[in-house]
Amino acid sequence: MASKDHRTATIQQYKAKTFDLLIIGGGVTGAGIALDAASRGLSVGLVEMNDFASGTSSKSTKLIHGGLRYLKQFEIALVREVGRERAIVHKLCPHLVVPEKMLLPLYEDGTFGKFSTAVGLWVYDFLADVAEDDKRKMLSKEETIALEPLLNPDKLNGGGFYAEYRTDDARLTIEIIKTAMQFGAAVLNYTKANDFLYDDKGKVCGLQLQDMLTGEKFVAKAKKVVSAAGPWVDEVRKKDGQLGKKRLFLSKGVHIVVPHEKLPVKNSIYFDVEDGRMVFAIPRLDVTYVGTTDTAYEGDKNHVTADEKDVQYLLDACNKMFPTVQLTKKDLSSSWAGLRPLIFEEEKTASEMSRKDEFFFSDNGLISIAGGKLTGYRKMAERTVDVVIEKMKEEGNNPVVKDCFTDQIPLGAWPIKDINDVAATRRSITKTLSGHITGAEIMAEYLVSNYGKQAVDIVKNAGQEGLSHRSLLQAEIDFTIEKELVFLPLDFINRRSGRLYFNLDQTLPYIDFMLDYFADRFGWTTAFKSEQAVVVQSAIKDAQVF
Ligand code: FAD
Repeated sequence: MASKDHRTATIQQYKAKTFDLLIIGGGVTGAGIALDAASRGLSVGLVEMNDFASGTSSKSTKLIHGGLRYLKQFEIALVREVGRERAIVHKLCPHLVVPEKMLLPLYEDGTFGKFSTAVGLWVYDFLADVAEDDKRKMLSKEETIALEPLLNPDKLNGGGFYAEYRTDDARLTIEIIKTAMQFGAAVLNYTKANDFLYDDKGKVCGLQLQDMLTGEKFVAKAKKVVSAAGPWVDEVRKKDGQLGKKRLFLSKGVHIVVPHEKLPVKNSIYFDVEDGRMVFAIPRLDVTYVGTTDTAYEGDKNHVTADEKDVQYLLDACNKMFPTVQLTKKDLSSSWAGLRPLIFEEEKTASEMSRKDEFFFSDNGLISIAGGKLTGYRKMAERTVDVVIEKMKEEGNNPVVKDCFTDQIPLGAWPIKDINDVAATRRSITKTLSGHITGAEIMAEYLVSNYGKQAVDIVKNAGQEGLSHRSLLQAEIDFTIEKELVFLPLDFINRRSGRLYFNLDQTLPYIDFMLDYFADRFGWTTAFKSEQAVVVQSAIKDAQVF
């Protein structure tokens, strides 16, 4: 069903029924809860005020990782949980959660010493139950330089080489949403929870909602409401009048993107910065991205951008670690900035605060969840739905539900089997595209790493009018409108395709075409089309002005 028809039908459903569970927030946390709850047998609604993954869940470092640095902070349980989750999420979505070796160069006076790293990485592998072939290797200085010739050789002692996974956070979120829909979850993007509905005992029993595309207001009823509003959790708790002492601390994290030839690292690298922090440099398609910063943030949550200081910090870090490169602002192709919703702890800096997830329970029955990591979304969801079911039972509702089995539910409409299947799909698409477009191999990698097997359909549809970059783009847009609840150009350019950050130069020549195409498909007025042109241009400016 196309996005528009799905929306009309879903809004009707919201007006007519009482859900077991309504979720506020369509980031990875809300998406995970929707899938867990719907697959266990609850009737579920989820509302997102903007587009899915438009909050923190499209602004992360895009790693499914165990969090080596948390070991240093002795967060053993967190490392064990997220470490083990990596292999599970990889199995559920092998095209989107891809094994990636990480190189950790070890320097005299660096964060990690050689002996402590050997032990730490061993513990890391052990806690995360890493397969024998993927276990960490400790490298000599010569082996480290051979693996990454760009590294600064001064005071280099050696390196650690260990297993992580990379992903695309926004695509992971949308695949979880789509899978939740297959289990009957009724999801709406561009629908804001303006306020709560209360029953005669003062307990939350639904939401006052607003369709952000039409302005229409309506209400939806539910036995339980969970807020997974990320950085907006406190704002939502305030609407319920129950802020209390425990609150969020928002930390801003910035990433910069450069063409791969400007920072041609051969591997993902996790390296020291002079102030004692560590940052990642990660090659992806034909770019390398570097991040992140970690600074307290109190500005506008709806408009977070990289500033000059953030960018300089990351450039300095790169230029020190890779001295032959010497990047300047002119080399950047884009950037993004996001907010970590951390649980505030007295007397700790942003970097020191725990990444653990926590619940907030209001006297009125609202359950909020915040903190945590992309990597741990499935376990966070399981814990949340366990709590929801327990509360429903306490309140005299006895839902008939299954135990959590999301570790057995492949993500996406047409799941891909394993990494061999991913490679075979990529090869077959490269073959189809070769001779028709330039850069067939990189295009095949882009399509398969974003859409998995669904890329086969996109290429087939594009081929109907002759394969070209433009026909592929149109087929890709069609796919996201038909199957992924895309309404506005930025949904596609940013959250569904990642083009805004990773492929901006090649996308810019097609912006007018995209605006025309959306206007045509959705029957926009000229005024609305002009409005959308401004929205797209300002997102491009935010990504490009440093
Ligand atoms: P969000 O994604 O922000 O979702 C909350 C949603 O709620 C938003 O989309 C918002 O629009 C919506 N909302 C708010 N109010 C309302 C309302 N009233 N009505 C309707 N909708 C509403 N984790 C990892 O595992 N690996 C990493 O590599 C990693 N790197 C990171 C790097 C950075 C710089 C940052 C900032 C975080 C990183 N994280 C990483 C953490 C991870 O990204 C977050 O934990 C996760 O994305 C949070 O998801 P969420 O769904 O809780 O929040």
